[in-house]
Amino acid sequence: MAIHEKTLIDADHVLTTDKLVIDGVDVSGHWNTMILPRTLTDYDDSFEAKIQRLGGGDNVHRCWQCGSCTNSCTMYAQNTDFNPRYWIYLTRLGLKEEILKDKDIIWQCVSCNKCTNICPKDVRPEGVMKALAHWIEEEGHRPKSNSTVFDEEFTRQCIVRGRIEDMEVLTGYFGKTDQAHGLLDALRKLSWFRLAVFRQTKLSDLLNGRMMKFLNRMPFGASLRMGLAMLFKPRTKSWGRTGEVLAQYVKEQKELAHG
Ligand code: SF4
Ligand code: SF4
Repeated sequence: MAIHEKTLIDADHVLTTDKLVIDGVDVSGHWNTMILPRTLTDYDDSFEAKIQRLGGGDNVHRCWQCGSCTNSCTMYAQNTDFNPRYWIYLTRLGLKEEILKDKDIIWQCVSCNKCTNICPKDVRPEGVMKALAHWIEEEGHRPKSNSTVFDEEFTRQCIVRGRIEDMEVLTGYFGKTDQAHGLLDALRKLSWFRLAVFRQTKLSDLLNGRMMKFLNRMPFGASLRMGLAMLFKPRTKSWGRTGEVLAQYVKEQKELAHG
């Protein structure tokens, strides 16, 4: 694979002589530039296969480095250090240490999938970004992201109960992250949110003394159902064995992904 990145060339490997004449031809300056070869030893030749086994990374080997993914990338437009093509290149070479230099931005992929739509080789770069972010977390190079915590809580409920209780997912998620305060604060500041609450609950009825009308519109039934679900934790009928099979399958897939 050809070297595409100037950043991979160490400055002390570039040799240029300011004044040089060979056979009467002046080749001073950049005309005589030579790049000394370098030998990489810090690569992991099993790394590409590892990323392929993680969800989304299976087509990484197809990349031919055209750069269309990076050119179309939403995040690259914000920050030119966010470079899916480059990370795919490093993945193929097994240069994990180089990838880890960008561990604090790889997870920022917003899953817009522009890269996936434009890729001529069906690499699915968005999936590769997810696989890399996943690997970075699993190896402990970054703490679990909020989306990973949410996914785990969601999956846990699916397996244990065979159904999703929104309130339990949210309380489980907020209990493990510090997102609750931030979310409530953001919603409070949104004028459209206040307007929606005002309209939905018909606060105007309350303010104008129409108490019964106001109470009739309050979501007491839904709140009660959610409260009872939190308390009694209902499961899908006959779910027990199905949940066990599902848990076993998830375990096997994880073992498979980790080789
Ligand atoms: S668009 Fe596809 S083939 Fe081109 S560099 Fe990106 S991943 Fe590779
Ligand atoms: S899915 Fe991620 S990598 Fe692909 S274009 Fe969007 S932000 Fe960039």
